[in-house]
Amino acid sequence: MTGIFRRRVFLRQVEPKRRYDVVIIGGGVNGLSLAYNLAARHGIHDVAVFEAGYLGAGASGRNTQVVRANYNTPENIPLYKASLGIWRTLSQELDFNVQFSTQGELDLCHTTDSLEVERDKSLLNHAYGVHTDVLAPEEITRINPLVDLSGGGSLPVLGASYHPPGSTARHDSVVWGYASAATRLGVHIHEGSSVTGIRVDMDGCTGVETDAGPISAGAVVSAVAGWTSIVADMAGLKLPISTHPLQAFVTEPYHHVLDGLVSSMDLYVYLSQTARGELLVGAEILPYNTYSTRSTFDFLSEAAKRSIQILPFMARARAMRQWAGLCDMTPDSSPILGETEVPRFFLVAGMTWGFKGSPIFGRTMAELLATGRTPELIAPFAPDRFERDRMVPDAASAGTH
Ligand SMILES: Cc1cc2nc3c(=O)[nH]c(=O)nc-3n(C[C@H](O)[C@H](O)[C@H](O)COP(=O)(O)OP(=O)(O)OC[C@H]3O[C@@H](n4cnc5c(N)ncnc54)[C@H](O)[C@@H]3O)c2cc1C
Repeated sequence: MTGIFRRRVFLRQVEPKRRYDVVIIGGGVNGLSLAYNLAARHGIHDVAVFEAGYLGAGASGRNTQVVRANYNTPENIPLYKASLGIWRTLSQELDFNVQFSTQGELDLCHTTDSLEVERDKSLLNHAYGVHTDVLAPEEITRINPLVDLSGGGSLPVLGASYHPPGSTARHDSVVWGYASAATRLGVHIHEGSSVTGIRVDMDGCTGVETDAGPISAGAVVSAVAGWTSIVADMAGLKLPISTHPLQAFVTEPYHHVLDGLVSSMDLYVYLSQTARGELLVGAEILPYNTYSTRSTFDFLSEAAKRSIQILPFMARARAMRQWAGLCDMTPDSSPILGETEVPRFFLVAGMTWGFKGSPIFGRTMAELLATGRTPELIAPFAPDRFERDRMVPDAASAGTH
């Protein structure tokens, strides 16, 4: 076969070696981004990713695909701005279409409190070179005439913030893009292979126990999101992380009707329309702890009601599918990125909304592992910040009011 058709390498099934330079636990977007960046940017190819289920089995295959940089702290904004910069050319970099699409994000405010938060956010975003404007109600109608400014007759919209760089990327494509690029560079990906223990001696972490036997490693990284507490416990670490469910649903596919992302900062609901035409609806993290990924009718009915309040056409849409995933929440709602108190055991954790950050999390963590130096962008997110009382509180960005 000639011309435009090329053979593509996705995964190669290989037997696990007994030793790797780096072992990554978790085949989600963050573990795979790190594996790819180690090989592509630092020539560290002797890397294995152990995934208990299938690639994207965790939150990476369940998220609502929102990519944005409109955070609320001087630490988070530059981090997610840098990530957004990588997203723009990620398809070319990975030679895999991740379906990145920029459509803008409109965040509606129905109370003076939330409008005040958005005003502060807009000022801080502009100070760090991120475009977020505050809009009056009539300007909202210009951007999206479908929005019901009466908030369903009970919660009038007082204004909004508008973030033109707000984007989406197809979550499965991102997982597969990183996995296939990493595989081409020699990374071993072991699906259906659980890490059951972390090997630690007097000098630090020396490897992992897996259901395929013990594996030694120069460094071990946990990138298991909702399962972080369980894996950290294997290394004898107690982390200030709790696991919460997050749910979403899609409707049947319709002709294109909704431009961009629309959310309500007071009703805690957000919507977009996928490339397939489904209307995709998400809401806030649920307040209880669980490892269950069962979705609930309460969520479906409540999120549907809220979506109709801001976009009345949703009343005629037919829900098709709903699901739940797990999020690992930190006390300050910001990620944990760095080496733990167990030398050579690293964390990529605290992934409330960690899909959008995966390009920069992988790139900066790879630099840390390769050079031993913490990149400035992730220095504020070190695991020991809780003991040092150096939190990065950003509950407003994480929707964890
Ligand atoms: C409904 C929903 C909507 C979301 N929407 C967004 C959004 O719009 N934007 C955004 O930025 N983020 C969003 N998120 C969050 C985002 O999806 C996650 O933060 C991100 O995918 C985490 O990726 P990860 O690679 O760190 O972890 P995961 O994708 O969860 O992967 C962890 C993997 O580790 C594996 N694992 C666990 N334990 C072990 C073990 N012992 N051995 C081997 N493997 C193990 C699991 O099987 C899993 O595949 C959403 C999440 C959900 C659930």
